[in-house]
Amino acid sequence: MSIEQQIDQLRNELRQHNHNYYILDAPTISDYEFDMKLKELQDLEAKYPEYYDANSPTLRVGGAVTKNFDTIVHEQRMYSLDNSYSKEDLLDWEKRIKKMVDGEIQYTCELKYDGASINLTYENGELVRAVTRGDGIQGDDVTTNIKTIKSVPLKLNGNYPPKFNIRGEIILPFEGFAKMNEERIALGEEPYANPRNTASGSLKLQDSSEVAKRPLDCLLYSIVGERLGIATQFENLEKARDWGFKVPAESKLVNTIDEVLEFVNYWDEHRHALPYETDGVVIKVNDLLQQDELGFTAKAPRWAMAYKFKAEQASTILEEITYQVGRTGAITPVANLAPVALAGTTVKRASLHNADQIEKLDVRVGDTVFVEKGGEIIPKIVGVNFQKRDSKSKPTQYITHCPECGTELIRKEGEAQHYCPNVDGCAPQIIGRIQHYISRKAMDIEGLGGETVALLVNEGLITDYADLYELKKEQVIPLERMAEKSADNLITGIEKSKEIPFERVLFGLGIRYVGETVAKKLAKHYKTINAVIDASEEDLVNVDEIGIKIAESVREFFGQEKNRTLVTRLKDFGVQLEISAEKLANQTDTLKGQTFVVSGVFEKISRNELKKMIEDNGGKVSSSISSKTSFVVAGANMGPSKLEKANKLEIPIIGEDDFLLKIK
Ligand code: AMP
Ligand code: ZN
Repeated sequence: MSIEQQIDQLRNELRQHNHNYYILDAPTISDYEFDMKLKELQDLEAKYPEYYDANSPTLRVGGAVTKNFDTIVHEQRMYSLDNSYSKEDLLDWEKRIKKMVDGEIQYTCELKYDGASINLTYENGELVRAVTRGDGIQGDDVTTNIKTIKSVPLKLNGNYPPKFNIRGEIILPFEGFAKMNEERIALGEEPYANPRNTASGSLKLQDSSEVAKRPLDCLLYSIVGERLGIATQFENLEKARDWGFKVPAESKLVNTIDEVLEFVNYWDEHRHALPYETDGVVIKVNDLLQQDELGFTAKAPRWAMAYKFKAEQASTILEEITYQVGRTGAITPVANLAPVALAGTTVKRASLHNADQIEKLDVRVGDTVFVEKGGEIIPKIVGVNFQKRDSKSKPTQYITHCPECGTELIRKEGEAQHYCPNVDGCAPQIIGRIQHYISRKAMDIEGLGGETVALLVNEGLITDYADLYELKKEQVIPLERMAEKSADNLITGIEKSKEIPFERVLFGLGIRYVGETVAKKLAKHYKTINAVIDASEEDLVNVDEIGIKIAESVREFFGQEKNRTLVTRLKDFGVQLEISAEKLANQTDTLKGQTFVVSGVFEKISRNELKKMIEDNGGKVSSSISSKTSFVVAGANMGPSKLEKANKLEIPIIGEDDFLLKIK
């Protein structure tokens, strides 16, 4: 046997053992024998590097270090899921979708795995890329790390399509998580808080050999893209299993919502016996043609629905109530608790929302309280065990003055929150506004973190975000923990933020109710900050999706002299306060009033670019074909049900070239 054949044979053997152990849970050789074979392969590969294979089982141990993870645009967007909590919710959903599709509907019920979602791309049976969900449109390339996860097949078996994407969840099973924490405690380190965050944090570790040490697992739940000759979701799952993926066997095909509920109730009761965390069930329309018909909303598929299990509760002692001051001056009461285990995490703090909530629950320091945790939201207090209350305890007195600056708090008509009105003199407000300005979704200033902002404010070097642009290196160096290099980075980072586009600056200004999306809308509509400043309330409300609350808030913000001065200063420093000429040049009204549906795969431009071009030229993009659709832009492999529908409604279908001509 030649060396190459020997290497090949070892790789195949190890792959099979790996599959037996991690997917089938039925090893046929001992760990020792496995390690010996692996060692043999490692030695051979070291000696004969010409037979390198990017998917060799030896790469499972990791070693490669990633400094920066590349951003990759998803070929198909990674959507979120709509949530339901009751039988009524599910029946409503069924009613909605039955209006949109013909025929009986079958459902696949799957467990909802609680971890970090991942998109895996396979070409010719080999894993070529693994990308995190990110914001759903683009994520990070974490292939090197994912390759170390033993249940992710690097090569597939059987009759797989030449190219496809498959999605799943990277999770950390309870047992492995507990073991990791034992080790950390033994080393005197803080234990990790919960499996889900630890799993998701693992994906972005720079050293892949660290990832290899973590007992991560990958559970797959959907194949995406063109139909690949598969007709149903349930078949999808079976196929994926055949090709070598780990697909939990709990999934079930059912015919009615009542059967869905049976599945939900069964797993609500039995989920604690599962080796990993689940926070609900995902119900999917089984027929892929029907899925196509239903399409997507802006946020989630219409053909799927998550059913969330009721949150778990624990009871513990409320030790103290503290008060936080946010960047808008809003006061949030926080319950400090005797640590208690809850749904896989240790809970020490919980939100109490506001004064009304405290009064309604009648919570008092020293009480035994019930804490609940639902998904990723911070835990909340849902009630008091009055039987355990000390007879001498007195009702909680809400604070009347700001815990940070001592100013008397105010509460506006109809608002639940108390506010500290000392906008310009209350440290957490000053710091919070600047922290918001530099945050990732706003100016994303590299080299400047939240703590440094606090330091700069406390040292009296800055009091607003415009001051950042006047900072000198010499002022920064003497600060605690600031070396020459980090001072340089900070100044460069601030300088670079002058290139950040207008919409993000507008978001960074910190106008109440003006979030990312609203800022985008305003920037697109008004194009310059002056136009926003000059816009009347009436005018603002006429902008798509801008309501009276936002309009009032924008008026109120720019009505203040000091905010207008801030903006003028930013402008003088060279910050982008209008849409750049280049971007404007790419924007037209050519497609105004027209609605497009994009389907299939394109050659010259990506699907996302295409959608952006439609929007930049004043058109609307919709996910499903209806009588309101003006054109379908079709690439190769357009979905057959879309094609049929377009033909039935006599909607013109154009190719990418026709489209490009249109906007020329
Ligand atoms: P959410 O983040 O709560 O909107 O829920 C959507 C996420 O649930 C998806 O991005 C998936 O990562 C995750 N998920 C877990 N299990 C499943 C499943 N069986 N099917 C679909 N999505 C799932
Ligand atoms: Zn204050």
